[in-house]
Amino acid sequence: MRFSRALIPTLRETPAEAEVVSHQLLLRGGFIRQVARGIYTYLPLGWRVLLKVTHIVREELTRAGCEEVQMPCLVPAELWQQSGRWGAYGKELLRIKDRHDREFCFGPTHEEVITELVAASVRSYRDLPKNLFQIHTKFRDEVRPRFGLMRGREFIMKDGYSFHTSLDDLDREYAAMRAAYLRIFHRCGLSARVVEAATGNIGGSSSHEVMILAETGESAIAHCPQCEYAANVELAAYRVPATATGTQADVPSAHEVHTPGRGGVQDVIGVLGVTAAQMIKTLIYERDGGIVVALVPGDREVNEHKLQTATGATFLELAGPKTIHDLTNAAVGFAGPMGLPATLPDWGPVTVLADHAIAQLPWGATGANRTDYHCMHVVPGRDFTPTQYLDLGTARADDWCPRCETGTLAIIRGIEVGHIFKLGTKYAEPLGARYLDHEGHEQTMIMGTYGLGIGRTAAAAVEQHHDARGIVWPLPIAPFHIALLLLNAKDAAHTAYAEQTYATLTAAGLDVLFDDRSERAGVKFTDAELIGLPYQVIIGGKGIAQQAVELKDRRTGEAQMMPVEAVVRRIQEELAATGGTA
Ligand code: ATP
Ligand code: MG
Repeated sequence: MRFSRALIPTLRETPAEAEVVSHQLLLRGGFIRQVARGIYTYLPLGWRVLLKVTHIVREELTRAGCEEVQMPCLVPAELWQQSGRWGAYGKELLRIKDRHDREFCFGPTHEEVITELVAASVRSYRDLPKNLFQIHTKFRDEVRPRFGLMRGREFIMKDGYSFHTSLDDLDREYAAMRAAYLRIFHRCGLSARVVEAATGNIGGSSSHEVMILAETGESAIAHCPQCEYAANVELAAYRVPATATGTQADVPSAHEVHTPGRGGVQDVIGVLGVTAAQMIKTLIYERDGGIVVALVPGDREVNEHKLQTATGATFLELAGPKTIHDLTNAAVGFAGPMGLPATLPDWGPVTVLADHAIAQLPWGATGANRTDYHCMHVVPGRDFTPTQYLDLGTARADDWCPRCETGTLAIIRGIEVGHIFKLGTKYAEPLGARYLDHEGHEQTMIMGTYGLGIGRTAAAAVEQHHDARGIVWPLPIAPFHIALLLLNAKDAAHTAYAEQTYATLTAAGLDVLFDDRSERAGVKFTDAELIGLPYQVIIGGKGIAQQAVELKDRRTGEAQMMPVEAVVRRIQEELAATGGTA
């Protein structure tokens, strides 16, 4: 491609709306432009990157035995009603009516459509397994679209779905997909890590996320360097070491202390003379059909995902001051587990769930259920009895690893680029995906689902690979392999040599952006660095007489004179090593 003909509107200034580096550089480099909040046009450079990512995704999934389909964007409401998600999905689902007032949604994911298709087309165990995928535009009306391609409302996703006759067969395919994902990201030149994950809106029994490690990642990962345990902090476990300090038998009876205006853990510990870990933090949640009281040590956060899983609640939210007052007779900040009613009129039963660490406290300090008072010497089991003890806290750095004997957890950040789920029969059951087994009995299919964000992968690549001057694309997903820089377009001999070099490089199958503009050399270098093509081939100065060009590596800054043929060999070899071809 000739730069003079290309649409590459680079910007010198960083647009104010872009907070993260990938968003800034993709805007500045002329890869994307926003059309509306979270909705983008991919410009030629951006689209070339997405095509390269999808090419790798297609190759690896095809190699793993998957077949590509293309489903519609608009999905009739009935299908979503059948699966039960029309009501459950909430405001992220964009609902649309046609001229006949029939309801549709713009598919945010396609379990319903594919399950109906397979239900209608597959009859026998002999036709299973199946694994179908598409590369498709999705719409999710995200609360906070941000970070450019990282969290858009309209975005491109690869979504795949598999259908099986047994859990064992699903396990085998799940492992194959996990391996395929790792190959995909490796081939994209990205370092990725698989972590245990929550199942969220999609549902199912188990799931893993594939993360690209980056400081700016929205996901926090608990990782044990000792045994390689890795899980999204949303659900990460940790081990509470047994403490043997003091016994409950020696503890005086509970008594109140006046703590005016000191509702927060940090405000009150000094007055009470206790550590945060000795506080029994009491959080009150409203749920569908009841109240949940969660107890964790004062130095730990309640993990709402664990709470939601433990309660099976579909709706769970921190209670407001009125509910808190109705339950505790006190203002916010003075709640404790002692003497709570078993039910709350208007809400229903009150369930008290306590973290395992609470059981280990010889005694704790907590709110007295009286405004401006706390209680000291509160003994779990003596002064209150939770409905259940369970793992309720959020893991944090230096917690003991839940898996190995010796490791402690580190918290690292990542960008979730892929998410795979074992679904079981969650969709097959309501949508009637059944087959006849080898004895002629009807059985329900068992499913897996596999998502991969194409645009988010491109953005994650920029987060992982950039410097102060711009993007540094990994070769396999760079929009072009080479920036061919003609430094002096007014010189006829230089121009002729650049044209000849352009022809040789493109004939060898390399993607070349030929900067033939009549701009100053400085402008060409600045644009080339910003756009981030991995190699620069520089035409100017002394090389021409020796029939040589300067090859500069954008990543290392190394430059070397060599014949064009050597440039071709070097880049083709590097591409072949990444599993791709020019
Ligand atoms: P998140 O927790 O980040 O919202 P999710 O769990 O909702 O993601 P999935 O439903 O598993 O995501 O979607 C599969 C993949 O699609 C994700 O791994 C991600 O790469 C991509 N993806 C999801 N939401 C978005 C979005 N709003 N913008 C861009 N890519 C997205
Ligand atoms: Mg989401």
